[in-house]
Amino acid sequence: MRFDILTIFPEFFGALPDQGILGHGVVSRALRTGLSSAHIHDLRGFTHDRHRTVDDRPFGGGEGMVLKPQPILECLESLAIVPRTTRGVSREAVILLSAQGKRFTQSTARRLATLDRVVLICGRYEGVDERVVQLLCDEELSIGDYVLSGGELAAAVVLDATVRLLPGVLGHADSSRYESFGEGDVQVPGQEKNGRSSRSGGAAATNELQGPPRSTNASHGLLDYPHYTRPAEFLGVSIPEALGSGDHQAIRLWRRQAALAKTLANRPDLLPAADLSDDDRKFLATLGYGRSD
Ligand code: SAM
Repeated sequence: MRFDILTIFPEFFGALPDQGILGHGVVSRALRTGLSSAHIHDLRGFTHDRHRTVDDRPFGGGEGMVLKPQPILECLESLAIVPRTTRGVSREAVILLSAQGKRFTQSTARRLATLDRVVLICGRYEGVDERVVQLLCDEELSIGDYVLSGGELAAAVVLDATVRLLPGVLGHADSSRYESFGEGDVQVPGQEKNGRSSRSGGAAATNELQGPPRSTNASHGLLDYPHYTRPAEFLGVSIPEALGSGDHQAIRLWRRQAALAKTLANRPDLLPAADLSDDDRKFLATLGYGRSD
């Protein structure tokens, strides 16, 4: 999968794939092994004046400057990307990073990871001429409800979250399935949802239940559970007893309840849409969830 990043600060990304914010860990490995590629394009290279001007004053007045559409168009043309209106169906997406965009989420990352090419346009100053959105982009994405000074950090976030979902990038394919915002491990026995005895159901679930719990198993719409490693006691705090017990069912139950507790504490907004069993709800009720006071 190929990424093209359009920016007026190409040095922000360092010398790929060795340096800078994309030169580390999983992303760097994906770039070095060819599972993904990232190409950084300097928008000033598509200007035609002595000062390499990429911005201009806003029509209608007001403070700040606006990125001009022409360098962006010419950069896209150099990548053989035609205006949206003439593109038709493709496995490419041209995206403007913008605080006014739709929220970038894990499911957006999953969708992007199925494409062949993603082009990320980084805004600066007051933003980008709106005709870039109207004519050239498939979508605008925001990485959160705050205003950054430029789209480069947002582009790095989108690239990182997407690249790690590409097949073969993570050491274990399940690592990106069973994590926050992902799928869940098999059902804890005895936890029934709406009369169904198991989320996963059937012999497969029974077999999985006999094996060790997954190392990362949020989820069904919950946050991941807390993780612990050695030493078993640190600054007087011991790991939860269940995790050291070797009892797979006890570990699954602890992890499920810890994920519920963490989601309630940090992201209660996720709970109404989460896939909860009757036992999950009972457990949450012991923590005060669902009480009207
Ligand atoms: N005037 C704009 C507004 O109020 O929405 C803010 C412009 S911001 C200072 C400059 C650039 O940073 C934007 O064009 C965009 O590319 C990027 N940016 C800022 N916040 C962002 C966010 N939450 N998500 C993605 N990109 C963002």
